[in-house]
Amino acid sequence: MDLKAWVREVPDHPISGILFKDVTSVIGHPPAFRAAVDWYTNQVERVNPEILAAIDARGFVFAAPVADRLGIPMVLLRKTGKLPPPVVQVEYSLEYADASNLEARIGAVDAGQRVAVIDDLLATGGTAVAASKLVEELGGTVVAHVFLIELAYLNGRARVLDHDAKCEVLANVVYD
Ligand code: AMP
Repeated sequence: MDLKAWVREVPDHPISGILFKDVTSVIGHPPAFRAAVDWYTNQVERVNPEILAAIDARGFVFAAPVADRLGIPMVLLRKTGKLPPPVVQVEYSLEYADASNLEARIGAVDAGQRVAVIDDLLATGGTAVAASKLVEELGGTVVAHVFLIELAYLNGRARVLDHDAKCEVLANVVYD
């Protein structure tokens, strides 16, 4: 299935100049959602992680069924203030916002665990690098970042690989 056909484009959201890619239209159409989860599952299976790290909030939607299908645990990387202590925190910026924070529960990843990070979309890569830093703080190793959508013109892939050249960056729908 061509999943690009199910991504709704919303100009000037959440701020002027941003072309927002809305994945709720993928989630809301069962065959498209099934195809997306199938794709994520295949990509994740290939890199053989021991645990998934899902990014708040759309990453949760795609990661949960993959964790269930593969029978592996999932850790939530959440926006600040959502998780009870003890947490580790990393500051980052993303395409349409500066100075956000991502947090994870201390102890959520075991030392040396292979981690696949799941999010819906790769833009500038700021969020993905923050996720990598959090996983590293917890003692894990990121083996892949998996996205449904990549905005290739923002060069997020290069930023992620600059942080860690060994991890894989995988995306289904790419906008050049
Ligand atoms: P970035 O850190 O710039 O790679 O931004 C990625 C994060 O912000 C992801 O969690 C996306 O859900 C969200 N995001 C950034 N840009 C967009 C966009 N144009 N459309 C939809 N979501 C976006």
